[in-house]
Amino acid sequence: MDFSSGRARLKQARLAGDRRELYPHSLQFYLDPPTENVSLVEFENFAVDRLKLLKVVENLGVSYVRGSDSYKTKLGAELRKLKFPYKALAEDDYEARRKDHISHFILRLAYCQSEDLRRWFLQQEMDLLRYRFNELTETLRQKFLEHVNLLFEAISEDLKNELANELCTSTPGMTKVKEQMFYKVGLADAVDLFRARRVFIKDGFAYVPHKEIDAIVLNNYRAKLSKALALTARSLPSIQSDERLQPLLNHLSHSYVGPDYSVQKNTGKISLEQIDALSGKSFPLCMRQLHKALRDNHHLRHGGRMQYGLFLKGIGLTLEQALEFWKKEFIRGKVDADKFDKGYAYSIRHSYGKEGKRTDYTPYSCMKIIMSNPPSQGDYHGCPFRHSDPELLKQKLQSYKIPPSGITQILELVKGMHYQLACQKYFELVHDVDDIGFSLNHPNQYFTESQRLLSGGRELKKEPSNSGNSQQKNNSQESMNSNSAPTSSNTTADAELEALEAYFTED
Ligand code: SF4
Repeated sequence: MDFSSGRARLKQARLAGDRRELYPHSLQFYLDPPTENVSLVEFENFAVDRLKLLKVVENLGVSYVRGSDSYKTKLGAELRKLKFPYKALAEDDYEARRKDHISHFILRLAYCQSEDLRRWFLQQEMDLLRYRFNELTETLRQKFLEHVNLLFEAISEDLKNELANELCTSTPGMTKVKEQMFYKVGLADAVDLFRARRVFIKDGFAYVPHKEIDAIVLNNYRAKLSKALALTARSLPSIQSDERLQPLLNHLSHSYVGPDYSVQKNTGKISLEQIDALSGKSFPLCMRQLHKALRDNHHLRHGGRMQYGLFLKGIGLTLEQALEFWKKEFIRGKVDADKFDKGYAYSIRHSYGKEGKRTDYTPYSCMKIIMSNPPSQGDYHGCPFRHSDPELLKQKLQSYKIPPSGITQILELVKGMHYQLACQKYFELVHDVDDIGFSLNHPNQYFTESQRLLSGGRELKKEPSNSGNSQQKNNSQESMNSNSAPTSSNTTADAELEALEAYFTED
């Protein structure tokens, strides 16, 4: 991909001409990267939209049975809304196919950077492909399989009759062998079905019923995408040397699609006396943990101070309040007032944009907390759903009176690496609602939604529904261009924050 920059790009988002012939199908295996020129504006917009889509895929995969009517309806609606190919039959969806292709490759660049990111990306892309493949008509499915060289040999009627008993007993749910078409597939392509004992095996071949062919397609796609992600990761050094791309990609992999909570209409509306009560009622687990550690130890190491300090700023603490809050607590421990004023106070003023380059730092998003700077021994920052040992997490949740069934659900989500969804479940349990009604991406969003709920600002739905998510997404969409896009000022802020962190490494 080539990327344009400069003034011209602002006027013209789309650079290349029509290249319809590249996309004979609405579904793709994304085998070849785009070769056309892509403006940075389009690059950014496509990437943010795909990230939104994949987050919806993740959410729906946990809230609904994959392939159920509700799942399909909601995912179809999201694809339509974000203008990705949603109906395989649509003849003229070139723009959507192009967006699908380019956005996949951009996120591949952003999400190849670590094992966690790769795994998350792979899972969501697989779910997306599964949904879209199953939406294809029989003819289109056949065409697509031909296109990706996955043509399997259907066994003859004679052979089917000969193997009828074996096919029937080895294929769960199979009653009418005669009415089904079976394909002879090499074992390597049918590993998942073989492992799950869902197919009949003979002489190194799996006999796969037509309805299971999607598992073969997915298996093949997973192998290709895993390999591609590993290869992309190897080429990272050359990508990282591109000063236009690196900040964008970093931001995407640490990003979320929503406001950045840098501007708070609540500034000054929270008193220091309220913080203890608020930490129990409206803080997400990460901040509750930091608050407790601060109260217990009268100190937090610098990772904790950064994460918690910016969160408090985001919920409305003024600079003066922050100075008073931290000082009161620290001088109860080993730090005397003089040392606090000389060292720690500077860093607090800095984070409020009153020192150094006067950058107004924004609170950390979940992705940033989850993906970067994992806590070490003696640290309390990070995301407890990501960074705590499951047994310790369980004990913590028990101590917060989360019911055992809820703890089990949370631990299941954690096991599946759905950390933000685990946090959403925690929100539901703490607030005693059946559906959180929004898609959680930021600790300050957690706080705001909690406060809104507790103050009766709105009713959460009791029935499982994704409409709240859509609402949230719409809001996000509105604010996306100005907030979630990695603007140059954000990039500068990130760089400065790194510098600030490096400077204040004093524990
Ligand atoms: Fe905090 Fe986000 Fe983790 Fe929840 S998911 S505990 S808000 S970092």
